[in-house]
Amino acid sequence: AEEVGGGDKEVVREYFNNDGFQRWRRIYGDTDDVNKVQRDIRLGHSKTVENVMKMLLDEGPLSGVTVCDAGCGTGCLSIPLAKEGAVVAASDISAAMVAEAEKEAREELFKGTDSPPAGIVLPKFEVSDLESLNGKYHTVICLDVLIHYPQSKADAMIAHLASLSEDRLILSFAPKTFYYSLLKRVGELFPGPSKATRAYLHSEADVERALNKVGWKIRKRGLTTTQFYFSRVVEAVPA
Ligand code: SAM
Repeated sequence: AEEVGGGDKEVVREYFNNDGFQRWRRIYGDTDDVNKVQRDIRLGHSKTVENVMKMLLDEGPLSGVTVCDAGCGTGCLSIPLAKEGAVVAASDISAAMVAEAEKEAREELFKGTDSPPAGIVLPKFEVSDLESLNGKYHTVICLDVLIHYPQSKADAMIAHLASLSEDRLILSFAPKTFYYSLLKRVGELFPGPSKATRAYLHSEADVERALNKVGWKIRKRGLTTTQFYFSRVVEAVPA
């Protein structure tokens, strides 16, 4: 009984190009047109982004470091990464999300001029599901994407993300220990039939097993919780 709602990859793509795009763009934005639950999720998610930036910067500066932001959404992480000088490849299954992320990145990084300041590279934006990505990056990050897939699919996704990474892989997921709280969150977030998308929780042990299977080990762990938002962050490195 780990499934809530209904949908697979095509449903996820469709959702994040339409209703889900509108909903999550508001949640990840800074306008006032959000309800109490959405505001809480906005806060939780921004804490996750802060935690991840801290995890990364604790290991050294990001200037010139190649980073793949898989499932970049509206660019909440890609933009701060670019501000630190990282060379970011940002991709998402949703064309609407990618377009929004690029628009926001240009606004925030260019500050009204037609190019970024010295030392800052505009992320390379691409519409792609993470399973189709290729190339090699110093760091691969996938935040709050696994929630849309069951562990049976997540294993292959984790293996693929690890294959793209040379040094470091950061993943966040909704931990299974918060199942009942998440049920409540999902109920309030996705009321009514048209909002249907599944939310899958993952046990930390399952994620760790998937990483270990492909030769990676967890080096750091973080957890962000607010009233309606729960996200476990793990940083893995080659074992
Ligand atoms: N990572 C971003 C962040 O933390 O701000 C966005 C998180 S949002 C909850 C989930 C994102 O994952 C959506 O933008 C969705 O389109 C994307 N997504 C879902 N399945 C995907 C897949 N298989 N490949 C790439 N992106 C995917």
